[in-house]
Amino acid sequence: TLQDRLTATFKGLRGKGRLSEADIDATAREIRVALLEADVALPVVREFIAAVRERARGAEVSQALNPAQQIIKIVNEELVTILGGETRRVRFAKNPPTVIMLAGLQGAGKTTLAGKLALWLKGQGHAPLLVAADLQRPNAVTQLQVVGERAGTPVFAPEPGNGVGDPVRVARQAMDFARDKQHDVVVVDTAGRLGIDAELMQQAADIRDAVQPDEILFVVDAMIGQDAVVTAEAFLEGVGFTGVVLTKLDGDARGGAALSVAKVTGRQVMFASNGEKLTDFDVFHPDRMASRILDMGDVLTLIEQAERTFDAQQQEEIARKFSTGEDFTLEDFMSQMQQLRKMGSMSKIFGMLPGMGQFREQIENIDERELDRTQAMISSMTPAERRDPKILNGSRRSRIARGSGTSVSAVNDLVERFGQAQQMMRTMRSGGAIPGMPGFGK
Ligand code: GDP
Ligand code: MG
Repeated sequence: TLQDRLTATFKGLRGKGRLSEADIDATAREIRVALLEADVALPVVREFIAAVRERARGAEVSQALNPAQQIIKIVNEELVTILGGETRRVRFAKNPPTVIMLAGLQGAGKTTLAGKLALWLKGQGHAPLLVAADLQRPNAVTQLQVVGERAGTPVFAPEPGNGVGDPVRVARQAMDFARDKQHDVVVVDTAGRLGIDAELMQQAADIRDAVQPDEILFVVDAMIGQDAVVTAEAFLEGVGFTGVVLTKLDGDARGGAALSVAKVTGRQVMFASNGEKLTDFDVFHPDRMASRILDMGDVLTLIEQAERTFDAQQQEEIARKFSTGEDFTLEDFMSQMQQLRKMGSMSKIFGMLPGMGQFREQIENIDERELDRTQAMISSMTPAERRDPKILNGSRRSRIARGSGTSVSAVNDLVERFGQAQQMMRTMRSGGAIPGMPGFGK
């Protein structure tokens, strides 16, 4: 598996302090193979690897993670981003009925999906109507009626014995029926062919124009792998769609199609189907799919744990220094600040702490940009300078100012205020007041 191979690759990397070009190369090769094995389309893999390389090069060296873990973390984050980050919800119409049209090749799972959606919508308090606009095959209407019955949802279908029906007319009539019978969501099932077909696209486009859907869902079988991209592009061009549904994820497909389709069409996967039963269905979760594609759920958990442990260790270290009277250094200050900032804006964090009411004015005056500058200045210092700012002579100060894009007077100001804070820290330990930390305004 990918995990075994990565573990082998990473053996040699462990313990190194920073991400080297060679580390990135070795890891990129493994990630490429993993994505290809997950059936991600080749052009998407190429672009993806390039983006990961770029980010890995610019990444700050993490103290919690080894280089390998750090690259995996970047890969995972990039995957989640391409998959849309957050779950994309159905956009319901302001004036019901909301119209959801299904499009895709024959056998993709549209008719089954219609039933799944109906059941899901009912669970959300909606009153859906299913529409049989697939009049291509004799038993397509019956199949939708069976599904509708299982979902306990009415199906609008052409009158039997009316010869070959016109799906556009059926769709239009269904809209009147839905308004009349107070259905607030209409799900339109359409015909598919075995391959991409101009006539079929035209029919779908005509149905689209007749019902003006709020959502057009492109339904695609995860098992078709690399072909998903070609099919998706054809449907995007021929009919257009607003979201994607990935079906048959209960098979052994690793879900690379989700990544390819999302990347190439810019449309998010909204739902995932994983079985023939109507309940084998869920909204799509980008983070879960990223783990599935990488096949590395466990590794990701380990990475999270490593980061949490590291944070906890740093907190303990600071608490220990504080209680033993050891000096709080600029290094401590920096890591403290970085951790706090991970949680959100400073004013928000302080605003949530109990007993901070008396410092309201200072809290409101916290300037996040000044914090950025402070952080930049400390980053430009050497470890020795951070431990002992007394060694900061004129030339060191101007080097720091240049390195951080600030000015010598800003550096002077930081050093002076940090000295005061340190002094106050000592006073506080012996029962004094809260220190005015540098970066928090004067
Ligand atoms: P349509 O031609 O797009 O309407 O596709 P259907 O809904 O008729 O589905 C084609 C076949 O795939 C049927 O046998 C379904 O039972 C099956 N199917 C649909 N969705 C899934 C799924 O998520 N998992 C599995 N294993 N089979 C599915
Ligand atoms: Mg069908």
